[in-house]
Amino acid sequence: MNSNEKPKFMYSRWDIEQKNLLSQLWNDGKSYEDIAIAVNELIGRIANARGFDIHPVRTANAVAIQCEKFGFITKRKLIKWQKLQTKSRQSARRNNLFRAKKEVQSRDDHKCVICGNDNKLVFAHIIPFIETRQNTVIEAVTLCFHHHKHFDERCIRCVNKIFEYMLKKHSGYQDKYEIENLSPCRSRIVQKVS
Ligand SMILES: [Zn+2]
Ligand SMILES: [Zn+2]
Repeated sequence: MNSNEKPKFMYSRWDIEQKNLLSQLWNDGKSYEDIAIAVNELIGRIANARGFDIHPVRTANAVAIQCEKFGFITKRKLIKWQKLQTKSRQSARRNNLFRAKKEVQSRDDHKCVICGNDNKLVFAHIIPFIETRQNTVIEAVTLCFHHHKHFDERCIRCVNKIFEYMLKKHSGYQDKYEIENLSPCRSRIVQKVS
């Protein structure tokens, strides 16, 4: 594409080819997920052939909504399915947290990584959960109640100790994370901006 040419957008509405494919697969008893995959393949082929730079991507939810519009399913059934989807996403997230906690605890030998204490342990996010929305092992650490408070208050000694510990446990840690100094006695660990 020439740099001063505008990108070509493919319509986001469902055209007749996509609608026909959806109907056919619905009649074959395919799931919304499978239909979405097939429709996306079709869209990809058309976009390629007609030189569209940007094209729509169908989700299972978009397929379900379309099925309701066609009268294949009732509005009630659509809403019920959407609620179930939300529930299963939530439980997947809970499972992730559970798995991450177990892994972090065993990596840290069920002890505070700063003082070695083994009671009142806390699963501490090194990078705040609110920033990442993820529970990853490389971004969490086991701390005792006392050192968790220190870490939360950005105690520079605790931050340094945790950083050194993570360096030992995860190769390439220094490529992804660094210490940001906030004042002579306060700091925090942040993701490196590449
Ligand atoms: Zn401790
Ligand atoms: Zn401290």
